[in-house]
Amino acid sequence: MQQARHILKSTFGYDHFRHHQAEIIRSLIEGHDVLTLMPTGGGKSICYQLPALIRSGTAIVVSPLIALMQNQVDALKQLGIRAEFLNSALHPGEQRLVENNFLAGDIDLLYMAPERLLNEHTLNIINQCDISLFAIDEAHCVSQWGHDFRKEYQQLSLLHSRFPNVPRIALTATADQRTRNEIIEQLSLRQAKVFINSFDRPNIHYAIAESGNSRDALWQFIAQNHAEDAGIVYCLSRKNVEVTAEWLNKKGRTALPYHAGLGQDIRQRNQQRFLREDGVIIVATIAFGMGIDKPDVRFVAHMNLPKNIESYYQETGRAGRDGDPSDAWMSYGLKDVINLRMFTENSEAEEQFKRMMLQKTDAMLGFCELTSCRRQALLAYFGEVLEQPCGNCDNCMNPPETWDATIATQKALSCIYRTHERFGTHYIIDILTGKDDERIRRNSHDKLSTFDIGGEHTSVEWRGIFRQLIAHGYLATDSEGYGVLKLTEKSWPLLKRTKTPQTVMLRKLRKISKTKKKKTSSATRVMLQTLSAQDQSLFEQLRQLRSRLAKEQNVPPYVIFPDKTLTEMAIIKPVSASQMLDISGVGETKLNRYGDTFLHEISRAVTSNCKI
Ligand code: ADP
Ligand code: ZN
Repeated sequence: MQQARHILKSTFGYDHFRHHQAEIIRSLIEGHDVLTLMPTGGGKSICYQLPALIRSGTAIVVSPLIALMQNQVDALKQLGIRAEFLNSALHPGEQRLVENNFLAGDIDLLYMAPERLLNEHTLNIINQCDISLFAIDEAHCVSQWGHDFRKEYQQLSLLHSRFPNVPRIALTATADQRTRNEIIEQLSLRQAKVFINSFDRPNIHYAIAESGNSRDALWQFIAQNHAEDAGIVYCLSRKNVEVTAEWLNKKGRTALPYHAGLGQDIRQRNQQRFLREDGVIIVATIAFGMGIDKPDVRFVAHMNLPKNIESYYQETGRAGRDGDPSDAWMSYGLKDVINLRMFTENSEAEEQFKRMMLQKTDAMLGFCELTSCRRQALLAYFGEVLEQPCGNCDNCMNPPETWDATIATQKALSCIYRTHERFGTHYIIDILTGKDDERIRRNSHDKLSTFDIGGEHTSVEWRGIFRQLIAHGYLATDSEGYGVLKLTEKSWPLLKRTKTPQTVMLRKLRKISKTKKKKTSSATRVMLQTLSAQDQSLFEQLRQLRSRLAKEQNVPPYVIFPDKTLTEMAIIKPVSASQMLDISGVGETKLNRYGDTFLHEISRAVTSNCKI
């Protein structure tokens, strides 16, 4: 382990192991199988990269996404590690070269997709080589129930039977018990040591806005908190992706669309720009994101409700892998609630599966309407207990007010009852607020006892009330998809005013204040706030230098140094190689490669400041 600690510092530039890293690494070095569940950004990669450098032979890393292997290999090469990948992006000549190097024992880590690994040609080569370990990344891809299911992953148990003496490590950021059991079963990992980390992502601020006009709300969120940061905006439809991207561009941001309807080359190009340029926003359907390992995504915004909490956790988890403050922001409204419910109701799935989906929808809606700490609820969903409210979510920082909405609920339900459950929210609200409307008169609904009994709330407030009533199950929508409101079992006790009186507590509409700033702001800004003006300008200079170097080598900037490392440099202003080595994220290879250039830039800035 001493050697492991030494490599952690000299190669990766870090002083301490995080979470279970040390135990995992020790287990692998000793030759045990390992299953590790760690949240995104927890530091999974080092768990197999470091043992790969210590054990003899080549480590084979199975990864589902060809597009991302390049970045992982680039990052390792920057650290002076002999890493390669084998996939269809290589020309036959390049491929042979990699294979020869592999056979010669000149590769520390070799990345490949499962289908490549499983073909006989590759297996034959592996047979002839010394293998240090197998790392199976994104191991939840074996799960048939997950959204990332990959058939080939299920055949990876073959590694166990063919190479029984090579230790294997399976890694995932998916938290639920069911997936965990599937991984153990499918990959024959019953003997494996299991390391489960907390799934909390303390650096992510969770917030959910109830906004009708979500695009304006989105802009307000971005402009206030992430004026220059990279982020992901998720939309439900391809069309919305296009429109939103264009709209953000008009607002002056670089925003690129990504969805399955775009050509492969456009998608590839947009993804590369997102990874390689600073401050790009990607607007995408959920087709985007698996395996994206960009560490400095500062926000993930949802323009629609994700379909369940698992997806929400996974998608928001793409923010802040580097551990710096980041935002998970979502905007949702009445229409989203109706759509999500309808989507589940109308699904053609088997009864049992549908029931499960309905439960998940309920959980998601409940999460949105929550009045207590979101992080506590999110972790509780995955079976984890957080003792105290987190202090870093919208409900903690700005507790929502609730009000007794029993009477309003009764008015609403009664109005639906009296119109025979045949109308949607718009119409019902018009009756409640006594709108002068042709259709209402034609239906003689202006004669109803519920006509004009809801004038104490505006239409907007009523929409909020209906949204919450649907979310909480006091109302349902029809299964035909017209948005017709139906009473539910939960409605009747309120309608009948039974002896056991029920109260319905709802949250008050939050006023979006234009001026109020959030307490925690974007990471870059928080870091910069702690920097003096001079340090800030040095940080900017270092960032530009990094951009230049990254462009020259055609790699993403964070592969050279993460923001955190540049911030430390700007504060400490090292003047020698040994001081440079003390900066987190600077190991020996990077010192050799970039030390002088950055030292020079720092000294130049310091002297020019002295002159002023
Ligand atoms: P994951 O694959 O779990 O999402 P990564 O392996 O990409 O996470 O690690 C996330 C970030 O944390 C990377 O920038 C990585 O270099 C950094 N990191 C990992 N381990 C440590 C550590 N022990 N000390 C400091 N930074 C670390
Ligand atoms: Zn909280």
